[in-house]
Amino acid sequence: MNSESLMSAAYLGAIVLFILSLGGFSKQETAIRGNMFGIAGMSLAMMTTILGLGSNWTVSGMVCLVVALAIGGPIGFIAAKKIEMTQMPELVALMHSLVGLAAVLIGLISYYASAAKANSTEEGIHLIEIYIGILIGAVTLSGSLIAFGKLSGKISGKPWLIPGRHGLNLAGLFLVLALGIWFVLSDSKMVGTIPMLLMLATSLAFGIHLVIAIGGADMPVVVSMLNSYSGWAASATGFMLSNDLLIVTGALVGSSGAILSYIMCEAMNRRFFSVIAGGFGSDAGATSTKSTPEMLGEVASVSVREAMALMSDAKRVIIVPGYGLAVARAQHSICEITNLLRERGVDVRFAIHPVAGRMPGHMNVLLAEAKVPYDIVFEMDEINGLFPNTDVALVIGANDIVNPAAQEDPNSQIAGMPVLEVWKAETSIVLKRSMASGYAGVDNPLFYKENNRMLFGDAKKMLDEILNILRHSSSKTGAA
Ligand code: NDP
Repeated sequence: MNSESLMSAAYLGAIVLFILSLGGFSKQETAIRGNMFGIAGMSLAMMTTILGLGSNWTVSGMVCLVVALAIGGPIGFIAAKKIEMTQMPELVALMHSLVGLAAVLIGLISYYASAAKANSTEEGIHLIEIYIGILIGAVTLSGSLIAFGKLSGKISGKPWLIPGRHGLNLAGLFLVLALGIWFVLSDSKMVGTIPMLLMLATSLAFGIHLVIAIGGADMPVVVSMLNSYSGWAASATGFMLSNDLLIVTGALVGSSGAILSYIMCEAMNRRFFSVIAGGFGSDAGATSTKSTPEMLGEVASVSVREAMALMSDAKRVIIVPGYGLAVARAQHSICEITNLLRERGVDVRFAIHPVAGRMPGHMNVLLAEAKVPYDIVFEMDEINGLFPNTDVALVIGANDIVNPAAQEDPNSQIAGMPVLEVWKAETSIVLKRSMASGYAGVDNPLFYKENNRMLFGDAKKMLDEILNILRHSSSKTGAA
């Protein structure tokens, strides 16, 4: 077997490992195994690429590689160690921007380093690859940077809507197509540079516009869409470098990201193309649900002891975790409370909204980390029907995902978004620090409902207090 066949075999092995990795991620029970397959696949891919350079080795190439590994490796290691779970979505957005940047730079290098124009079909195809690679890379780069700004709170989460934005998007699309024809038909690289740079600027602007027009509650779709774009950018890079592994791996990421975006759209009752076109769910007519007559009512609060009593006297309790649970790192406390309540015969279940937290699967990861049994964790569709037969629904650090305005107020920015119907339980308890709104910036009429109680405070502190009382009363019961 020659070295080229060996390389192809190793790449095929890496591709199989990546597919097994994605398969593993589809279930919580197999997610760790999926991660292991991913690590093995990436190690094999990197080793093969480095060793496979063979006769193409040059001293300067070797120096570049070592320097890149020496800089990139420690940065990745430190970032992974230091980053909080709640900062993960920002980190991922930043990583996507690097994939986009790499696609743009490789596109530019491929263009200037390739042989003089041969006027052949092959050259034409290569130019199209370069053009598409730079285009997808630039949209991913600027879009991901804006997403990073929005997720980290450096840029306001409110949608910035330019008048006539859909017309602008369409004009941008036609412009990019026209520039593409000019680019491919250009006689020289000097002439080709003009449409290429114009397209680069248009794509960067499009990426910014795409994400900046998205309202808070629609961000999950954008995050998964940028994930998909980064895959296609990697795939385009693979075409430019004639690297089969990059083409297939990029396509795997691109298509799985697209499927995830579709699932997110379904979960939020949004139309996929409306979100891509930007600004959906943030029409000028839509207003935030401020000061509805219901909201002028009273807010009833409870003490830790009262909340604990409500739960331990209940037959059925449903816990709804949200972003605040992650911020407070209260997952272990709620897991212990769950165990104690179950020991007392209370039927405790968890309800997971598809966009709870700040990244897909955020709550599943938290609960798995705290070792909450999988069989008591339910998705929204499975559990929404059970609220009317539930004594207590405990909402921890969640807001938008339990907002009844989505169903009751057609003018709300989140109108139509499916939510967990906690208000249908006999009593709902909302544990959060204040009356502040959630990520979408929409007020929540749930807090004013007659059967709702507010438990004000930091989730970890309050849950630890509940845990202490529960432990104390359990040991008393045990002793008696
Ligand atoms: P929200 O952002 O709607 O609400 C979280 C609530 O947690 C806040 O209202 C806050 O209230 C409370 N909170 C914050 N810190 C603490 C703390 N230490 N202790 C107790 N409470 C705390 O979160 P949800 O999970 O309900 O909804 C997710 C939102 O994020 C949706 O709008 C979704 O569209 C969006 N999003 C989701 C992404 C995803 O992929 N899942 C990605 C990007 C955005 P207070 O300050 O009063 O304590």
